[in-house]
Amino acid sequence: MPHSNYDAILCDIDGCLSPEAPGAMNLAALGKVAAWNRRAREDGDAPRLTLCTGRPLPFTEAMARAVGAFDLPIVCESGVWLLEMDPYRWAMDPQLTPEHLDMARSMQAWVGESFKGVFFEAGKSAAVTVFHRDGPKPLRDEIQPAIKDEIARRGWPLRTAMTWTCVNIEPEFISKGTGIDRLIEQTGLKPDRLAGIGDTMSDVPIRERVAWFACPANADERLKELADYVSEKEEAEGVLEILERLENGAL
Ligand SMILES: [Mg+2]
Repeated sequence: MPHSNYDAILCDIDGCLSPEAPGAMNLAALGKVAAWNRRAREDGDAPRLTLCTGRPLPFTEAMARAVGAFDLPIVCESGVWLLEMDPYRWAMDPQLTPEHLDMARSMQAWVGESFKGVFFEAGKSAAVTVFHRDGPKPLRDEIQPAIKDEIARRGWPLRTAMTWTCVNIEPEFISKGTGIDRLIEQTGLKPDRLAGIGDTMSDVPIRERVAWFACPANADERLKELADYVSEKEEAEGVLEILERLENGAL
């Protein structure tokens, strides 16, 4: 392989390495990503792939083990945590205080008391992710707008947004972008030697901090417009196609 133009790849999980909807992971494809990372670690001639996700830390750690993301910090819970596998440690963004964590728990309690049929993603620390037993429609039509009004009424530094399936309530000063900024500061990586992979508009902060950005075929059309390359294949197969493109130096 020719010497790479990049030192690291920041890759989203849902809709990229893992299916967007609940379903079996493509373990064969993840095994190939792990082989890529093994080679990057042993030979140093390929950029290491690390993870940048909104998912909670425990889920992210399992994915890190699956794809061998052991060398670089990992951004999880949309920047709330930086996780490292070697040495094994994790650190919350130092801007977050106990008061911010209390705000998240208080909003979760308010949503749970105010709306029937809601339930919450387990494992989040400073954010709240709300699902509904009837799917995203009641969230979009009623619950997310009410959450927005309640945050404004309380005057708390939180933001809320819909995804394909759920509502997120997050600290407004934390994002995948602030997580990447901490990763860069900690590692000394240069943004002009970073590549990125994502599939939704929550991955725009990745796009903004890397020199080259790619999407799998299933990505949001608005994000594809911001990408340097869009693969023909979807999800994990799309990520492999993107790695192949990086490898073949078509850049
Ligand atoms: Mg995604």
